[in-house]
Amino acid sequence: MYTTEGFTGTICNTPLIRLSRLSEETGCEILGKAEFLNPGGSVKDRAAMGIIHAAEASGELRAGGTVVEGTAGNTGIGLAHICNARGYRCVIVIPETQSQEKLDLLRVLGAEVRPVPPKPYSDPGNYQHIARRLAEETDNAIWAAQFDNTANRDAHYATTGPEIWHETEGRIDAFVAATGTGGTLAGVSRYLKEQSEGVRIVLADPPGSALYNWVKNGDLQSVGSGSITEGIGTSRVTANLEGTAIDDAVMPADQESVDMVFRLLHRDGLFLGGSAGLNVCAAVQVARDLGPGHTIVTILCDSGARYQSRLFDPSWLAGKGLQAPDPASI
Ligand code: PMP
Repeated sequence: MYTTEGFTGTICNTPLIRLSRLSEETGCEILGKAEFLNPGGSVKDRAAMGIIHAAEASGELRAGGTVVEGTAGNTGIGLAHICNARGYRCVIVIPETQSQEKLDLLRVLGAEVRPVPPKPYSDPGNYQHIARRLAEETDNAIWAAQFDNTANRDAHYATTGPEIWHETEGRIDAFVAATGTGGTLAGVSRYLKEQSEGVRIVLADPPGSALYNWVKNGDLQSVGSGSITEGIGTSRVTANLEGTAIDDAVMPADQESVDMVFRLLHRDGLFLGGSAGLNVCAAVQVARDLGPGHTIVTILCDSGARYQSRLFDPSWLAGKGLQAPDPASI
């Protein structure tokens, strides 16, 4: 029999999809890692699994314990699934600005959801600090701490990086990804650079984030007024991101990311979220910079289903000064 073991057994080993039209247009191989096919529906299943395995291995998380996390959604969804599968209670603190679909799903999965007003990281009311305090006050509980718990990065070093290297047979010129915690970019960068120093690592940053400037000139200064993308962009260098080799950064405008999301849906049949749209825009930009003949890999982080009431609602987009492209003209 060829079987996998339960929920966590189905995380990882996602296909690497060749985006054929974009590849033909750029003369490069533009490849997207289909993270939306993880069982919890996003790239964050890997981090959730890595964090829980590490906490179990260290003895910090014991039978019947509680996992508390501050999350923009996808990590919480991964954690909620794994907690169900392993008999833990799951408490999720989430900024109330996140999409209704993610809040509803977390509740259906059985997590205790605590929406809180968005506050900067420097404010004690920031969702991450609230999560830490809740875990401290609860018996036999861990704070998953995805931003600074490097079990997150380690999961990508152990799985995403080797999968990409194997799937491209080592023929990869650049890896491009947006960062939320930085776990994906940091883990994959470490693994790929160990295999071949020449692999170019490019951080894709949404408008409003500070990392674009940080990569370009060492200055944590935000550019632009904000983004409709969710789960990415930040104003600080997390422990996961610290010390990561990054060669360059790009910052696609939101309209470009939205156009790409619609294009991927209507021309390639791929129903993806905003961060995947931004990642693919960034991959195309890197392809144009490098010129034909190169292989560029990026991450297709989650599905468009998580954003139906926003990204795919023309009036919601219009309220943000953005346009839903006409499928006939894409
Ligand atoms: N895209 C989406 C939709 C996410 O939820 C996240 C994580 N918050 C990311 C991308 C970025 O992943 P990472 O935390 O590994 O940097």
